[in-house]
Amino acid sequence: TEDLEMLKVENLVVNYGVIQALKGISFEVNEGEVIALIGANGAGKTTTLQTISGMLSPNSGKVLLNDVDITTIPGHKIVSMGMAHVPEGRRVFPGLTVLENLKMGAYTRSNKTEIAKTLEQVYESFPRLKERQNQLAGTLSGGEQQMLAMGRALMSNPKIVLMDEPSMGLSPIYVDEIFKIIQSISDAGTTVLLVEQNAKKALAIADRAYVLETGNVVLSGDAKDLLNDDSIKKAYLGE
Ligand code: ATP
Repeated sequence: TEDLEMLKVENLVVNYGVIQALKGISFEVNEGEVIALIGANGAGKTTTLQTISGMLSPNSGKVLLNDVDITTIPGHKIVSMGMAHVPEGRRVFPGLTVLENLKMGAYTRSNKTEIAKTLEQVYESFPRLKERQNQLAGTLSGGEQQMLAMGRALMSNPKIVLMDEPSMGLSPIYVDEIFKIIQSISDAGTTVLLVEQNAKKALAIADRAYVLETGNVVLSGDAKDLLNDDSIKKAYLGE
């Protein structure tokens, strides 16, 4: 059977003033895949996700979601088209409760019954969020805030989720838990585009991966092959 291309990025160029953050990158994500974007600090991973989800406009290039050109479509509309973005640094609303944060994630939806159903699913995936639903988000631990950011993204009922460094700054036990949750989000049928500094763990759960270096895709392939690639081992896996 043919792969169903869900997301396609074509020749994306993004400049910040004189800095070329993305120099013409292209890649695609097929329905049901977990795709990892790996690369050093400043390679352009965050810029890539922000451009895909409509937070940034590229200088040139295209983003297609299910063959629809979304390059100039505003972020909130892209959310209602089935894409959610879990930003770097979580960005939960610290003065709102866990439940209020989760409800914000459903802001593009109007069917209350459907929203309640999704909330139950999120609580099933993240029992700790249910326990703490009335706690202020700013008082959660880093790992719990990451779970909340993920849960909030799932509240929009996305077909594809972009995740920016979900394991950043977490203790090892939370890192494992977050990767298990990403796996279960994928198992439930959601397509995942994952940006990670933790290349080893990202490649372990990804189907395929793209390696970014100073704004270019320099290598791509099956995640398992990249895990065994000598240049990748040296540069990104600390081996
Ligand atoms: P990190 O893992 O450190 O977040 P990254 O791969 O996500 O790195 P980006 O954050 O996308 O990389 O940054 C790519 C390049 O663009 C870097 O050189 C960075 O300094 C630059 N850059 C990012 N945001 C801005 C901005 N708002 N203004 C100017 N330059 C920026």
